[in-house]
Amino acid sequence: MMQIGSFINGRRISRQAPAKHLPMVNPVDEQSYGELIEADEQEVGDAVTVAKNTFVGGIWRQASTGERQRVLRNIAQHLAKHVDELAELECTDTGLPIQDIRDRHIPRMIKNFDYFADLIGTVTGDTIEQTAGYLTSVGSEPAGVAALIAPWNAPLALASMKVAGALSSGNSAVLKPSEHTPTALYRFVELLHEAGLPPGVLNLINGRGSVTGQALSLSQDVDRIAFTGGTETGRLVMQNAAQNLTPVMLELGGKSANIFFEDIDVQKAVDAALLGIFSNNGQQCLAGSRILVQKTLLDDFLTKFRSRCQSIKVGDPRDPSTEIGPLAFRSHYEQVLKSIELAKTEGELVAGGESVTGLDTGLYIQPTAFLLESNRCQTAQKEIFGPVACIIPFDTIDQAIEMSNESSYGLVAYAWTNNLQTAMRIKKEVQAGTIWINSPVMRELQAPFGGFKQSGVGRTGGLEGWKFFTETKSVCIATSHKDLPGIGRHD
Ligand code: NAP
Repeated sequence: MMQIGSFINGRRISRQAPAKHLPMVNPVDEQSYGELIEADEQEVGDAVTVAKNTFVGGIWRQASTGERQRVLRNIAQHLAKHVDELAELECTDTGLPIQDIRDRHIPRMIKNFDYFADLIGTVTGDTIEQTAGYLTSVGSEPAGVAALIAPWNAPLALASMKVAGALSSGNSAVLKPSEHTPTALYRFVELLHEAGLPPGVLNLINGRGSVTGQALSLSQDVDRIAFTGGTETGRLVMQNAAQNLTPVMLELGGKSANIFFEDIDVQKAVDAALLGIFSNNGQQCLAGSRILVQKTLLDDFLTKFRSRCQSIKVGDPRDPSTEIGPLAFRSHYEQVLKSIELAKTEGELVAGGESVTGLDTGLYIQPTAFLLESNRCQTAQKEIFGPVACIIPFDTIDQAIEMSNESSYGLVAYAWTNNLQTAMRIKKEVQAGTIWINSPVMRELQAPFGGFKQSGVGRTGGLEGWKFFTETKSVCIATSHKDLPGIGRHD
């Protein structure tokens, strides 16, 4: 049986001391395919100490930009040779459709390393000579040890962004995957070492968030915490970080509006709405989970949306034709079914509404949608993080904007219209970190990503995300002789 523990200082750790063993479960059949050996506080401390010593030792921190670029590009090439292996592991961990992992997640993972390799070749500092006789240089340095805490809904794509961002400027790091999805990231870390990353620069610890993640986010030797996960956990991580005043970057949940105005072709509207909510098994932070439809379009939209939901292929994620696979693990699946039961009391069922019958095993839920009268009910306000859409009608653009913003979240928004003035008002007035207008999800790696309100703190990606992992240093040099005031010198 496969066993996975920590990977510290370039090697697998076999724990001598007693350790908690957690089953790794495939959501397709709920069979265990291995055991996760949890890192306790002591082992987390060991990983952080190795990362710190490696940072201080300078093997990566002091490597030239060219050398770091070379290794990052090697990593990208090496990962590209292991697409099949990584895709299968990720599919077993997550239940995500394998074709989606191959087409979206893995290319993104590879691109993250090339992107940050390119970026560090463009970073420059600043020189200030405002005051005669002085030259001040302003530059950035790696911050130290970065704690990288990853979620289970897109482990390779999201963790690789953190890893590439943190390592590119010379930091050391400790990565903690979700206990539900450890295997692809474990192999990913091994592959990085095979591609030439020096030992000790990236260390991996596995275990539950409440044990392993908690110890990592409380560590005094961590200089940055980059976290992706739910808003409640983010709050906890921020509280932990506050103990040591460690800067945090939090990428959190969402309940994003996907707005359809009456001038849009209804077929296109349905395509866009389905893509927005059901991609990634409905488990994505940027899901367009509140589908706002202008009333004049509603009847036609509902008819077509319902019929398309019924023909979505739900099934084994290893089948390349599958469009929705099982949810990632049982407690989450049960939570989503609970949210569906609540939604049945708050709205009218449009499609789905049950687990999938006909599949003997697995955590499958039908593509589900509800028509809601109000944006204020729990179903419209709470992130469900599964294949469950809310459809809410509106009359005017003012109402659409008001509803979009009537949420504690503000991660992304989508709008579909051929009217330029309408598009411009959405751009200006909707409170979200990213807005896609007449566009499906398109993540430009140069563009920072993050949320307004309770969807996050800070931005990941782009120069802004890169800077999070650095400290800015100003150095002032006197360029001519200076007579100093002689305190205490009275001759
Ligand atoms: P989660 O339960 O909050 O977990 C996220 C990570 O935090 C996991 O590695 C988890 O470990 C760990 N964790 C849990 N408790 C912790 C603690 N006390 N201290 C430190 N770490 C702890 O979130 P999730 O269920 O994995 O992911 C789904 C959520 O992530 C959704 O809300 C989604 O919207 C959000 N998300 C946001 C973005 C974005 O870019 N904004 C992207 C993807 C997902 P364990 O799993 O082992 O407990």
